[in-house]
Amino acid sequence: MKLIIASNNAHKIGEIKKILSGRFDEILSLSEAGISHETVEDGKTFIENATKKAREIAEISGCASLADDSGICVDALDGAPGIYSARFASDREGNASDEANNALLLEKLSGVCDRSAHYTAAIALVYPDGRTVTAEGYMYGDILESPRGEGGFGYDPLFVIKGESRTVAEMTPEEKNAVSHRRKALEGLLLKL
Ligand code: IMP
Repeated sequence: MKLIIASNNAHKIGEIKKILSGRFDEILSLSEAGISHETVEDGKTFIENATKKAREIAEISGCASLADDSGICVDALDGAPGIYSARFASDREGNASDEANNALLLEKLSGVCDRSAHYTAAIALVYPDGRTVTAEGYMYGDILESPRGEGGFGYDPLFVIKGESRTVAEMTPEEKNAVSHRRKALEGLLLKL
């Protein structure tokens, strides 16, 4: 069976392809499948958003589709930015830059002692007949007071995994992918297939 990943984010696609290779005959990104489609992410949870994205692509393509929705949840901010992680510092509809999001997070945590946070990833797999399988994964850590490292993306220069001293942006992609929220969600999904 052919699987279309409902994303064009190179970081996510590489990680998802590695973990799911062998499970599907062919795994394609949206652009590789020749699909141009933007889902309105108006769900109230990560799972709702991931399911909506995968369902729309399964309907358009007639193939199985897998989508993720992810973000960072900060305890001292009651779980914010959560599902709004990509557009945290945006005052309009679209996403903000990683730099702007990170700067706003540091501003909101200025003088705050409790720096604990976790990344969440929700994965939804929707088959052409509408059958849907979902899973969630988490990666726990703390938010630093200033960014470090050049790797990763998003909030990685500010995030240190529990038990680590380096930020995720200072780890190799392989080290991150071995323990990431996305990997845990994908492994949870595999167990359900
Ligand atoms: P999505 O593409 O709608 O799932 O939005 C995910 C947003 O959450 C990204 O733009 C990042 O800001 C943040 N995020 C999710 N996963 C990660 C990660 O692994 N590292 C850094 N930031 C992440």
